[in-house]
Amino acid sequence: MKVQIEKIESYDFDKIYHFIEKLQLEKILLDKQKILLKPNLLGAFPPEKAVTTNPVVVDAVITFLKKIGKEIILGDSPGGSTSVKLVWELTGMKQLAEKHNIPLVNFTTGGIIHQRTKKLKFPITKYIWDVDAVINLCKYKTHSLMSYTGAVKNLYGLIPGLKKSDYHKEHPDHTQFAKVISGLYSIVKERIVFNIMDGIVGMEGEGPSAGDPRNFGVMFASESASALDYVASSMMGFQPEKLEYILPSLEADNIKEDEIEILDEWQNFKFHKVKIKKVGLYVKILAYSPKILKDVFKKHFTYYPDFNDKCRKCNICVESCPMQAMELKEGDAHPTIDYDKCIKCMCCHEMCPYQAIYVHKSFLAKFIIK
Ligand code: SF4
Ligand code: SF4
Repeated sequence: MKVQIEKIESYDFDKIYHFIEKLQLEKILLDKQKILLKPNLLGAFPPEKAVTTNPVVVDAVITFLKKIGKEIILGDSPGGSTSVKLVWELTGMKQLAEKHNIPLVNFTTGGIIHQRTKKLKFPITKYIWDVDAVINLCKYKTHSLMSYTGAVKNLYGLIPGLKKSDYHKEHPDHTQFAKVISGLYSIVKERIVFNIMDGIVGMEGEGPSAGDPRNFGVMFASESASALDYVASSMMGFQPEKLEYILPSLEADNIKEDEIEILDEWQNFKFHKVKIKKVGLYVKILAYSPKILKDVFKKHFTYYPDFNDKCRKCNICVESCPMQAMELKEGDAHPTIDYDKCIKCMCCHEMCPYQAIYVHKSFLAKFIIK
């Protein structure tokens, strides 16, 4: 399975368009007319925050697909209770839909189809079955709970609206949540014919929304989301086989690690000192430690959502919390969290449009979580 990587230092439309032209999408989409584009539109963030897929990338893909005569729909289901109208505007998608006269759809409306694996049941937007094919337009970022987010994780947005938060409630630790991500992928992968990832300016640190933009200066593309993630996460400094949802997703795609092809110049390439999250280490240390060590470790390894002074009392986090662990009391500067109820899903951190929620870490957590 081929993963294509191209150096593109800035959001230069012509360079991005040229990359899209080289992907041979006209062959891949030969018998497919109606195409759904699924960018990462996590929340109401402007492009410079590097949370969402940059509109120049989406513009280049739409322009190319129009040129080859395709019918295009653009859509996503932003998480939690963020105003979708605000998401469309701030991310630049509203302007793009108007410019190209294409529908911009919210997956929360438009109907769902329930699908299941042996253990999990998913409500999935009907849109992916109403079109002939889906192109995944994802963003290259770190992720506080899952360590890394790229192509496979972006498909979690196919679950409509607040329902996404329920999976965090039912599958609170990242090992369990990885099974949700790879389980969903095993269902939807047949609909995803191609994946293009915006890594021109991605995110490091406390992703997927409160981290630091980082100019990686690359774009990735592949017919397989899992192969793309395997390569891209490794370039960030992760060991992809330890990311828990990557190998099961590769298995779902029936791809072996040594079957992934990249150009020689990118073999063993790593970006310099990316601030990557290593929450997974916590779980692994606990799994192999004697009980007494586990107790000490648990006591001193703590991380939880907390507030800085940027809160604007919009209440989005309160409405997004799957455990109803948050409350905004009149006169308070920000909501409060009932930490006995909190499952550390970090939905609030993910959803806050003002980056007012950060991950508070104990000394040990700071040492381990880079
Ligand atoms: S922390 Fe404040 S600004 Fe952020 S989502 Fe919650 S209420 Fe809104
Ligand atoms: S307070 Fe935040 S981290 Fe805790 S359960 Fe609610 S959304 Fe998740």
